[in-house]
Amino acid sequence: MVLEVKNVSKVFGGLRAVHEASFQVKENSITGLIGPNGAGKSTLFNCIAGYYPPSAGEIFFKQEKTSGFTADEIAKRGLARTFQTPQGFAQMTVMENLMVVPKGQVGEKPWQGLINGKKVKEQEEEIRKKAFKLLADFGLSEQKNDLIANLSAGEARIVEIARQLMLDPEVLLLDEPAAGINPALQNHLIQVLLKLRQQGLTLLIVDHNLGFISSLCDYIYVLHLGQIIAEGTPQEIFRNPRVVEVYLGGIA
Ligand code: ADP
Ligand code: MG
Repeated sequence: MVLEVKNVSKVFGGLRAVHEASFQVKENSITGLIGPNGAGKSTLFNCIAGYYPPSAGEIFFKQEKTSGFTADEIAKRGLARTFQTPQGFAQMTVMENLMVVPKGQVGEKPWQGLINGKKVKEQEEEIRKKAFKLLADFGLSEQKNDLIANLSAGEARIVEIARQLMLDPEVLLLDEPAAGINPALQNHLIQVLLKLRQQGLTLLIVDHNLGFISSLCDYIYVLHLGQIIAEGTPQEIFRNPRVVEVYLGGIA
């Protein structure tokens, strides 16, 4: 298991957002975490990515205990995430947004550029190639010089995913990647995510949309009122009466 969440709870003031949730993500799988709005999905996601320390429980990434680590420390170990609202620079182009991501490039400081101009050029060229390839994979080559501000919500979401992939993560966490995207682009996104898995990436997808998740995931966990109430393959989840009840609003 590349990611293990063990009995994690998160309390905000008096509110119990996540309660003793446990689940695992297998290497190279596409794992889903679903649940109605307010179930605690984003809270759990933020605990995994290091944006919140859990109130209780432990999280292991590649067998190392990462609960308590900062988001940066976790990202450096190979776990990337996208945000529900894309984080790129609206007034920069798609290509520029991808180019600014890789950390620790030579040339970040002007004097390093002067000392080793050739190395800087080579590195920049490598980063540019990587960005080009990602945009081609994602079907966004034509938009490479467009400002983020001028993209559709769906395109901006896909650029956000491409930005995270510039970091070469082993695991990518996605929070509601399909929200606000038209059905054609949703289909495109599904193809892109399946291709990434084929290339070796592990994906954990958080969503409340059962349809989107079931067309992608190998295995699904269902969160309701902060607790994991079901797990299984998409077929098993659809047949689970407890899940159907929660989704039809049978229990509050
Ligand atoms: P989901 O992503 O499944 O819709 P969230 O994790 O966003 O659910 O929210 C779970 C519960 O925790 C909700 O009741 C929400 O209002 C609450 N919550 C989330 N984040 C915070 C926060 N930073 N402070 C206080 N309450 C929060
Ligand atoms: Mg959420």
